[in-house]
Amino acid sequence: MAAPLGSALTKIGTRFCCRLRRFKTLSSIQCIPSSSISHLCIDRHYCLQHSTPDFIKNQRNFSSLHKDRKCWKCGSPTDEEKELFFCNCGVVQSVPEDLTYFKVMNCEEKFDIDTNSLSRLYKDLQRKLHPDKYSQRSKEELALAEQQSAFVNRAYNTLLKPLTRGQYLLEIHGDPIDESTSAVNPNFLMEIMEFNEDIAEAVGNKDAVGQLDNINSSRMEKCVEEVSKAFAADDVPKAKECLIKLKYFTNIDDKIKDIFRKHMDQ
Ligand code: ZN
Repeated sequence: MAAPLGSALTKIGTRFCCRLRRFKTLSSIQCIPSSSISHLCIDRHYCLQHSTPDFIKNQRNFSSLHKDRKCWKCGSPTDEEKELFFCNCGVVQSVPEDLTYFKVMNCEEKFDIDTNSLSRLYKDLQRKLHPDKYSQRSKEELALAEQQSAFVNRAYNTLLKPLTRGQYLLEIHGDPIDESTSAVNPNFLMEIMEFNEDIAEAVGNKDAVGQLDNINSSRMEKCVEEVSKAFAADDVPKAKECLIKLKYFTNIDDKIKDIFRKHMDQ
């Protein structure tokens, strides 16, 4: 997807580039001062080209220029599905540029996925791609194993939780949650504020915090169901609206867990 440079750079701000690995169009990315990169993109390794080994850069150039993927070692054409990680010759391959987290984790691109099989596949891939296994191989192959393994890690962590999975789907639909589009109903915000006050008052009272935890958990569950229905009906704006709410409930959930950890350890 070739985008005008201006719009592509805007997408870096929403992590679009590293999630979808479409940074290839961003030839001027090196012009961005490294001090500002961390605000633009969480993933220095993949987006800050000058921090990347030359070999990987060349691999990316290669795969972006040629649609037909070839093994960097033996030169034979590789099947992007069957030889996604390894060429038939046994050597680790680079991560294809257009690979999504859904594809790498062998999931359909939808909100409702089987997280048990996701976890099983993740463990299997991490075992196969663990960089320690390649410490005796060439520097190039080790670097590719690190690249593949890091990509699988990010894919797994993003797809595992409903909130991040939903946010990633919104990014794929080109409608990510960012500050300018995440406004919520003032009444909802008021409820959240009041709930936070209740939590602050309940600190130290295990039963009271437990009750608030139950209320918040059921709100989260309901919200996840609504997100699921909205995505199933292809209603992206509705899914986004529910995901923004889910973000608030998830923050509360983190806060409650933190209270349990800090104040109520038995
Ligand atoms: Zn090969």
